Amino acid sequence: KELAVAIDGPAAAGKSTVAKLVASELAYIYIDTGAMYRALTLKVLREQIPPDDDQAISDLLAKTDMQLEQGDSGQHVLMDGEDVTEAIRSEYVTNNVSHVAKHASVRKEMVQRQRELANKRSVVMDGRDIGTHVIPDAEVKIFLKASVEERAKRRYDENVKKGFTADFEKLKEEIEQRDQIDSKREVAPLVKANDAIELDTTDLTINQVAASVLEEVSK
Ligand code: C5P
Repeated sequence: KELAVAIDGPAAAGKSTVAKLVASELAYIYIDTGAMYRALTLKVLREQIPPDDDQAISDLLAKTDMQLEQGDSGQHVLMDGEDVTEAIRSEYVTNNVSHVAKHASVRKEMVQRQRELANKRSVVMDGRDIGTHVIPDAEVKIFLKASVEERAKRRYDENVKKGFTADFEKLKEEIEQRDQIDSKREVAPLVKANDAIELDTTDLTINQVAASVLEEVSK
């Protein structure tokens, strides 16, 4: 039987870092659902479609191919064959993705694609609605949270490490705004599943969080 670990939570709570570690430890596939919404957003912006035009966006999604590929240097995101791994992390995409992701028609198609991926292999999947909508019967559900200061600090440190300039206050504002839109949307808002285990990662290291998740899996 294929097994599923669902990891949800607000922006920059450490979901993808933890999910990658856990997936590699268990030899499961890691599926970054945020990357799928980001890839669609990149295409929406390139085609200059207004982020609130749900019909145009779902038509665009219908003809957009997305692949998550496991490479030696980590996961690569391919959109219509193009490697968009870096491009989907831009500030421009980040600041628009929640508007693209709020449309019912878009979510319906994305959830369908994500379920297909989860049916094929044992997975660790991270996002906002995995435990509540995408895989409601996941064997393990985790909800990661952390204070907004800590989350902004982590993003800030990541940026500095990559050699980018970063503005702490701006990052914090961007995170709060994205959480606000993701929590307030009508379809599949960001919320902890009733049966998810909540982990506050504010004062924990990545390895401690990953160890807790692995402990839940082994129960
Ligand atoms: O996880 P990440 O920060 O890359 O997600 C980017 C955005 O994609 C989120 O802020 C949210 O708007 C959307 N998203 C979503 N449902 C998911 C994953 C991401 O709505 N399962």
